[in-house]
Amino acid sequence: MKKPFITKTKAEEIASEYPTPFHIYDEKGIRDNARSVNKAFSWNKGYRQYFAVKALPNPFILKLFKEEGCGLDCSSMAELRLAEAAGFSGDEIMFSSNETPAEEYAYAAKLGAIINFDDITHIPFFEENVGPLPETVCCRYNPGGTFSISNSIMDNPGDAKYGMTRQQIAESFRILKEKGVKRFGIHAFLASNTVTDEYYPVLSADLFRLAVSLKEETGAAVSFINLSGGVGIPYTEEQKKNDIGLIGEGVRKHYEEILIPAGMGEVSILTEMGRYMTGPYGALVTRAVHEKHIYKEYIGVDASAANLMRPAMYGSYHHITVLGKEDLPRDHVYDVVGSLCENNDKFAIDRHLPEIKPGDLIYIHDTGAHGFSMGYNYNGKLKSAELLLQEDGGVKQIRRAETMNDYFATFDCFEEWKGLFDGKQ
Ligand SMILES: *Cc1c(COP(=O)(O)O)cnc(C)c1O
Repeated sequence: MKKPFITKTKAEEIASEYPTPFHIYDEKGIRDNARSVNKAFSWNKGYRQYFAVKALPNPFILKLFKEEGCGLDCSSMAELRLAEAAGFSGDEIMFSSNETPAEEYAYAAKLGAIINFDDITHIPFFEENVGPLPETVCCRYNPGGTFSISNSIMDNPGDAKYGMTRQQIAESFRILKEKGVKRFGIHAFLASNTVTDEYYPVLSADLFRLAVSLKEETGAAVSFINLSGGVGIPYTEEQKKNDIGLIGEGVRKHYEEILIPAGMGEVSILTEMGRYMTGPYGALVTRAVHEKHIYKEYIGVDASAANLMRPAMYGSYHHITVLGKEDLPRDHVYDVVGSLCENNDKFAIDRHLPEIKPGDLIYIHDTGAHGFSMGYNYNGKLKSAELLLQEDGGVKQIRRAETMNDYFATFDCFEEWKGLFDGKQ
């Protein structure tokens, strides 16, 4: 059974200070998990996990990762600025962007971040718009076709906009080497939310072989291999949690079989996990406001897809617990819905839950990654607060809820709004 990391009593106590809906994150869960990740790869001297900022772009969370020895993976100007504000610099930042604007490359270079080129044409683009190439450069690889693990197709790299072909990455390495680049990295992200212990090992074997052959072909010194993100989490009760220890050992086995015999035992392993690092350690807490009985049974809540877009966007499953009713039979079938004028604004469809009454607190699981950060302002909905459940049990607001003032701030060209919402929610 999936268990909330706060009780109903605690949630009510929090809600009396910070009105629902809110996202809350579990500091202890995040730290313990980060430590188990670092331990799983501790066999590799240069290992570093770069947290994918887009999953949970909050500087308080980023600082936790800094304390746990992680770096950050950024892909936009705002993410670079967040990394800078949270105290990261130099090779603690991986810049894995795509369709990158010149000023973002320039800012990443200024911070000394590791630049990960998504395309061969970005090399002259960088030189023309930013300046000389850094000494360390990464290139993103896309093998095309489909990506399979033991005959089952996991994803479709051939349809993905990212990365370079096999031929292009070799050509890029030659060009970069000629232009004085000294250290090379290889990066690939070939499947998303993989709930299996096989993904990183299978990917790593492919990339290790690629590294060996690229070194032979181009003479480029491959100093790191970046397995990027894609390690999944169990959103449903039936799925089994990945075993990061087994994943680390699986990568090690291929490292010892492929890289060490090739004399490449100094290569560092990097990862850019987002979902795996924070997904399970966040929840969206919302209150039931309405019940409606028409052709189906509906529970209307005070959150909407503006707070958590994954169900509306991907049809994703997020487990729901009705706080205080954990042990009651799930003998009602509901659509749990938000208030957007969009019929896909449904957190759950035909979900078996205990009877819900207006006023009940509803805990939506696993919103710690790609949750708040994907939010938007449709229908003029305001973004919620983000809270941190600290290790000592205290709760800290790490981002306040948006106010009407925030929503209207960009109408500063429209005189009539001025002052209208000052000091008001
Ligand atoms: C989104 C992303 C990640 C993180 O992916 P998860 O599935 O959250 O682990 C890592 N690297 C890059 C380049 C990404 O775009």
